[in-house]
Amino acid sequence: MWSARAERVGAGLICRWLLLAAWPLHLGFGALVVATGALAAVTEQTGIADAVAALAAHYVLGLCCSFGLHELGHLLVLSRARGITAITLERTLWRLSVSAHGRISGRAALLAALAGPGSCAVAGIALLMLIPQSHLHFWYLAHAVFLVPVFGDGRTVLSVVLSRRRQIQSHAE
Ligand SMILES: [Zn+2]
Repeated sequence: MWSARAERVGAGLICRWLLLAAWPLHLGFGALVVATGALAAVTEQTGIADAVAALAAHYVLGLCCSFGLHELGHLLVLSRARGITAITLERTLWRLSVSAHGRISGRAALLAALAGPGSCAVAGIALLMLIPQSHLHFWYLAHAVFLVPVFGDGRTVLSVVLSRRRQIQSHAE
């Protein structure tokens, strides 16, 4: 696991965080693309070459970029929230995460949790409207599933909403 804590998160740190995430998976996928591409060239099968190109585009522009955008959405809101003193960026071989240190208001926590799936949803809708034939929008729109409370984002949204409701109830009593 790689982890970095910083008071101000710069572009270099963001690149090291995002670009090296899941690198064994990228290596394996890259090797597969090269091998299949070579096979397509040797056998002169343009159908295989087209399929490999489409798969690579979905892997890079769909899978990888959507997760990158999701985490950048969280990071953008957290790095601007009042009371946050530092941010930790983490990556394991399979996942990315961002966490904040300091005090965060319920509203900022809610916005930060929504910003990940939300930014992907916006990108997904834009892709659907601009280039629906690419089918890349599916990768981005699928991030809405992270708002289900079994995932961290969904749990954060639910806990903020429940604590707000408790506050309103206790005010009314
Ligand atoms: Zn998230």
